[in-house]
Amino acid sequence: MKPEQIRNIAIIAHVDHGKTTLVDAMLKQSRIFRANQQVDERVMDSNALERERGITILAKNTAIEYKGIKINIIDTPGHADFGGEVERVMNMVDGVLLLVDSVEGPMPQTKFVLRQALERGHKVVVVINKIDRENARPDYVIDTTFDLFVDLGASDEQCEFPVIYASGLAGTSGLEPDELGETMEPLLDTILETLPSPQVDVEGPTQMQATLLGFDEYKGQIVIGRLHRGKLKRNQSVTVIAADGTTRNARAAQVFTHQGLARVEIEEAAAGDIIAVTGLGDVRIGDTLADPNQPEALPSITVEEPTLRMT
Ligand code: GDP
Repeated sequence: MKPEQIRNIAIIAHVDHGKTTLVDAMLKQSRIFRANQQVDERVMDSNALERERGITILAKNTAIEYKGIKINIIDTPGHADFGGEVERVMNMVDGVLLLVDSVEGPMPQTKFVLRQALERGHKVVVVINKIDRENARPDYVIDTTFDLFVDLGASDEQCEFPVIYASGLAGTSGLEPDELGETMEPLLDTILETLPSPQVDVEGPTQMQATLLGFDEYKGQIVIGRLHRGKLKRNQSVTVIAADGTTRNARAAQVFTHQGLARVEIEEAAAGDIIAVTGLGDVRIGDTLADPNQPEALPSITVEEPTLRMT
């Protein structure tokens, strides 16, 4: 898959503003393009499903396919306790979907996560969600969201965010609050048009930073991140470069990518995609997996929590 065919986005919102429901609706929409994809009711509450499939993950990723483009959607924890995790997720994506409830407007967690997205320089698509609510006040919500961008020091370009009105519950979205189509297409089209694809070098030597870690009873530690450069094949030898510069050799037993709710094993991943790798032994967050012939470390990333929550 070429980088141009990928969008890596983080979805951010205050709790209960409708992330799970909206991703669910987007997945159902993409079902049209991938008819064999099973759609479960609650996309991101799918831990039981992951366990059943034999692989447990922390960051809840969903990948949808729309108009030939793969959109990796990373659910981002809204709570300040996961500050380090949010920062790292922001490193893996190239754009952000900010959901704001059409009645409540921006809330503390909206602000916390948005700040990190803006600092990282990301473009944001603002979704005024739950537009079906009786007391929806989209103008007020857009104004307060805009004020929040300004308060947080957003650039002029970031302040010119596109706005989409949506009801995840009804599966509708549109460019005007009173002109909602019966689909998620206006939202998906806006994502494809405004958020960039990853700018990566697919031909160079392999390089990936361990951004999130998972653990599976059978497969052991799972390293999750965006393949930063080159390709990564099943059984490929890599050099693991630790934060202190020490290196060791390891082998990538299996490489996984996302498809809908599922994590599927692939022969080879290409730069730009978000992948999960097993068999590497004890890897720490921030370690670089590199080509043994050109073991170059990626710049270190902040680590605030020693181990991530196991959901
Ligand atoms: P999350 O915490 O952001 O993942 O939010 P959920 O998707 O779990 O939604 C929180 C609550 O809001 C649930 O009771 C949903 O049924 C409700 N909800 C989600 N989307 C909509 C919507 O578009 N319209 C309305 N009226 N309610 C919604």
